[in-house]
Amino acid sequence: MSDKQALLRRLPSVDSLLAQRAVHELTQIYGRGLVVEALRAQLADTRRELLESQRTDFRESALIDSIEQSLRRRHKTTLSPVINATGVIIHTNLGRALLSVSAQGAMASAARAYNTLEFDLETGARGSRLIHAARILRDLTGAEDALVVNNNASALILILSALAKGREVVISRGQLVEIGGGFRIPAIMRESGAALVEVGTTNRTRIDDYAEALNERSAMILRAHASNFKQIGFVQQPALTELTALARARGVLAVDDLGSGALIDTAPFGLDHEPTVQESVAAGADLVCFSGDKLLGGPQAGIIVGSASALAKLKSHPLARALRVDKLTYAAMIATLEHYRRGDALEQIPVWRMIACSLGDIRAQAESWSAQVGGSVISGESAVGGGSLPGTALPTALLAIDCASPQRALEQLRRADPPVIARIAENRVLLDPRTVLPEQEADLLQALQSIN
Ligand SMILES: *Cc1c(COP(=O)(O)O)cnc(C)c1O
Repeated sequence: MSDKQALLRRLPSVDSLLAQRAVHELTQIYGRGLVVEALRAQLADTRRELLESQRTDFRESALIDSIEQSLRRRHKTTLSPVINATGVIIHTNLGRALLSVSAQGAMASAARAYNTLEFDLETGARGSRLIHAARILRDLTGAEDALVVNNNASALILILSALAKGREVVISRGQLVEIGGGFRIPAIMRESGAALVEVGTTNRTRIDDYAEALNERSAMILRAHASNFKQIGFVQQPALTELTALARARGVLAVDDLGSGALIDTAPFGLDHEPTVQESVAAGADLVCFSGDKLLGGPQAGIIVGSASALAKLKSHPLARALRVDKLTYAAMIATLEHYRRGDALEQIPVWRMIACSLGDIRAQAESWSAQVGGSVISGESAVGGGSLPGTALPTALLAIDCASPQRALEQLRRADPPVIARIAENRVLLDPRTVLPEQEADLLQALQSIN
């Protein structure tokens, strides 16, 4: 028997490997089927290598290591937590708004136990899920009624399908926006069967432009907030009160797509004023729609508030069923809204806590990082993000790290556990403490120590 054959005979069997503790632990993570498959593939590879190369030995521990690595590579989860050191508070690619502790708890309770999602405790009969967040939304916004759907894009689709199908919707040319990820207002309108009537010019639209376009086929005037860009210079848009007065006089609806939809004024934080939901309701809009996971700071959802008669039509449309949200979303939404009612949103809702965080606190944080891992502290800007407040930023302090290749450092940070997402400017890696959670700091510093 040749040496090679003797060597091959010493290769362990699948069964003997399965009996090893390290491999047994892998079966508890990945299941026996996947582990057996990986063992067979690895043994076949090793056998081929031994036959074809000059190798005269193998180590069983190395074999097990490579099985573990290949399992980890092939079956790593695609949705996992990261450390957001970009300073972009509502980062759409990183999951937008984080939830408050009480919203997290409300989701866990709703997940654990049966609940009254569609059950009326008074009568013991079937109830409606559509009531859940409605009362608190009415209280907070002053609107007559409210409805929660899957996201703000769904809200628009439902509004246009239920109230403007086969009819005309008048919108300013300056508001035919693409929101991101290819989501364009004109495309949505086409899909819902509403005919788009563009008025005005890119930079200026007057109330008379709207008035001239309205006719017996018109269903509504739609205003869409230019959430991700800013027009400056020779620009003009009528005030919402002018639009709602015109709509009322001509018997059409006035609908305001606020995009982010703040319930709290952003101006006291040195930001531009983001229009609030309360302002749009007070201005007389029949319907106002906005996202749940942008400045509201809650779960992904689209919220529609407005007149009881318009909302009744939305609720009874077949699409309302297709676009409805589940119990987890309701639970998180109500818990988030309760912060606004109690008046503790700035402390408890992460989006607002990050917006309100003082520059002094952020600088102290950056300096403490710098003392531990090096780098210098520089002034910079954080962004609110999420298609809100374009062109305005929050002054921040950044940890700036010089490295031979910032690109490579960014890659190394992304490979850390948990991954760290940072940015580069002027050939340095920049880390913004504003969006890093206190409990993530130790991991962040460890990841920073390993870059070069
Ligand atoms: C973000 C945004 C939307 C889409 O909201 P989603 O909740 O992401 O579906 C629609 N309109 C405007 C103006 C927006 O800014």
